[in-house]
Amino acid sequence: MKLINDIKDSTLRAIARKVEDDVPVSRQDAVYMLQTNNILDLATIAQFMRLRLHGDVAYYGVNMNLNYTNICELRCPLCAFSCNKGDKKAYLLSLDDIEKKVKIAVSYGIDEVHIVGGLNQDLDIAYFEQMFTSIKSIKPDIHIVALTAVEYDYIARKNNLSLEEVFRRLINAGVNAMPGGGAEIFSPEIRNIIAPKKISGKRWLEVMRTAHNMGLKTNATMLYNHIESAEDIADHLWQIRALQDETNGFKTFVPLQFHGKNTAIFQRHATTGYDDIRIYATSRIFLHNVPHLKVLWMYVGEKMAQVLLRLGVDDMGATYHDEKIVHSAGANTPDYGSEPYLRSLIKEVGLIPVRTTAAYNKIDTGNNNESRSH
Ligand code: SF4
Repeated sequence: MKLINDIKDSTLRAIARKVEDDVPVSRQDAVYMLQTNNILDLATIAQFMRLRLHGDVAYYGVNMNLNYTNICELRCPLCAFSCNKGDKKAYLLSLDDIEKKVKIAVSYGIDEVHIVGGLNQDLDIAYFEQMFTSIKSIKPDIHIVALTAVEYDYIARKNNLSLEEVFRRLINAGVNAMPGGGAEIFSPEIRNIIAPKKISGKRWLEVMRTAHNMGLKTNATMLYNHIESAEDIADHLWQIRALQDETNGFKTFVPLQFHGKNTAIFQRHATTGYDDIRIYATSRIFLHNVPHLKVLWMYVGEKMAQVLLRLGVDDMGATYHDEKIVHSAGANTPDYGSEPYLRSLIKEVGLIPVRTTAAYNKIDTGNNNESRSH
């Protein structure tokens, strides 16, 4: 009752009533929330839900980013990271290079490696099997979060294997979880402009369904603030929620703020604070069946990430040693955050930092009993 009494806006009050009663909100509700200027009312509902799910805890990870190649057949207009084979900045990491990078990161104490790259026709499934096996041999309990739905689909087609067989082999080689990239926006009209050669939204969902059915937990992402409408976002959220009702395989939803520098997309304007708050708060409220909402501080900036921790977000992202994707597109943030820095960002907003991996198992740092800073 307290939640409803706090809400002044009548439409948001009706949404708050649904949230209190555990009734899923509608797509029309999402469109309203994505356009409202009653940011405090919206924030109150998102915060209510976040506290109900996670209390005073906020998660972060200690990980490294491994982008094994930037050579990609698709060259999506939205992408500032990819290039053609033979380009000056083109690279493909050998298995030896990867082993060296992982060994260095392991010596710094990482728990997880996050692996994504381009669709490179010189790579077959054995490259990935050997990569994952070698990473596990360096640190057997390391958590491998690897390859987007777009990459799994490509490996299956290129190697003439079923998706199930690709998942079976790569899980055997060491994959523990899947990142949520490649979802972009499901709307075919928008997708046709920002990533015309990428697998369709329908296929992305099919790959995720297969992954979930094979026991792999995954993230889901959504790229916002390019040329999409509020209706496109509501539709995207709705399709994620529908698959989650069926499989319960999504652990985390990750909205990704679009950065347009060095891409072929004309961005309508830089995102505003209100845009970010509306997107994250609406995502938290709409996706009642997805447990975690993650902000990548490198995308939105540290200050906005802190604000969002109080507006629905419970996961701050991670240290992301050597991030390349969003920095190719002009992000101004550093490409690495130390663990003490992430902990202090969380504590400064009065929350309790908990170190974890994509499995959300609590990792003891010796500091996890510390209380809120204020
Ligand atoms: S977004 Fe992914 S699939 Fe598209 S060009 Fe970039 S690396 Fe390739």
